[in-house]
Amino acid sequence: MANLPVQFLVCSFFVVLALHSFSARSQEVEDESEFSYSANGPIGPARWGEIHAEWGACSNGTMQSPIDMSSERVNIVSHLGRLRRSYRPANAVLRNRGHDMMLRWEGEAGAIEINGTEYALHQCHWHSPSEHTINGRRYDLELHLVHESADGKAAVVGIMYKIGRPDSFLSSLTDHLHAVTDITDKETAVGVIDPRDIKIGSRKYYRYIGSLTVPPCTENVVWSIVRKVRTVTREQLRLLRVAVHDDSDTNARPLQAIHDRPIELFRPDDKEQN
Ligand SMILES: [Zn+2]
Repeated sequence: MANLPVQFLVCSFFVVLALHSFSARSQEVEDESEFSYSANGPIGPARWGEIHAEWGACSNGTMQSPIDMSSERVNIVSHLGRLRRSYRPANAVLRNRGHDMMLRWEGEAGAIEINGTEYALHQCHWHSPSEHTINGRRYDLELHLVHESADGKAAVVGIMYKIGRPDSFLSSLTDHLHAVTDITDKETAVGVIDPRDIKIGSRKYYRYIGSLTVPPCTENVVWSIVRKVRTVTREQLRLLRVAVHDDSDTNARPLQAIHDRPIELFRPDDKEQN
């Protein structure tokens, strides 16, 4: 009997350890200096899988992201349902990871629900030009909202932008982005940020199963890419690139093989549209 509490403690320890390692695996690396986006460079996208054993999926994976969403491959469906976001304002920090700016929520910023699973919102970051393409067309910018479930599975919502009117969420971050330009060694507190200020503006979205688009390229990521392409100004785009200052014009991973994965486009049926 005296052994019971000890067994319980040991058992809990392994459960916590298992959960922790799950979660560590599904997260993007925070120090991006070990890889680059230069097409033919020694640590460029074609070599990511050789840099660390844990990054093997970047070369050997069969469900990698990003991909092209061409009309011929996409099945239009109405069963997926609307993207159910229950976000709330929370304290956040900005971090220059080396190739992108990341806004990470420290407090509870709410969640998205997909197939009955809750995925908590952790961070967002930007890629330019866009990583995903629609019918071969690449847009100017792509925002990734990275979520994680209690058992360490990732769900990413992608929003694409082309040059046009300012994006109000980026406008609200302008001063903070100027303030962290070239600061790479620490996170900067930016106060309360409301993720509900990130506008989607459409109920249509693409859904497929892919991976993180940066090492460790972890697979089984549930992707939701908003169909509507929104706008940013050239200045907003420039500010995101200048703030990172990695001497590269791009932080978009090349397109990956689809390997017959289904791609769905959710479109509400007529009844729901009324
Ligand atoms: Zn990303």
